[in-house]
Amino acid sequence: MTCRYCEGVGVRRSQLASGTEMVRDAPRCAFADETFSAENWDCGAMNRLRDSVAAPVWAEDQWAGIVPIPGSGRFILLGWYKSRGRTEFAALLDEFEAYPLTIQDAYAVIDALPILTASK
Ligand SMILES: [Zn+2]
Repeated sequence: MTCRYCEGVGVRRSQLASGTEMVRDAPRCAFADETFSAENWDCGAMNRLRDSVAAPVWAEDQWAGIVPIPGSGRFILLGWYKSRGRTEFAALLDEFEAYPLTIQDAYAVIDALPILTASK
């Protein structure tokens, strides 16, 4: 399976500032098994979660971010390198424990951001 944002997505193209069109690497969904896998690229759900981080923090080209899950008292923790397509780390923080991130928890955040999802 894939997340709802990777489903049916084929090759995408980007336009560089120079006007040159480039073919982007095909996406690889982070939720093939419904639980986050670091073997991902340009996953639509992960891109939306990364875009929803209000204040990402940076250290030596590594980024980290925290996204609250509305109404739950829980958080999604994210990590990635530069602005590359791979999200290297994602977990659910629930009080004093961290758990693997599931697609349901990812959707809980994405569904609470209708403006963000409508613009993508
Ligand atoms: Zn995906």
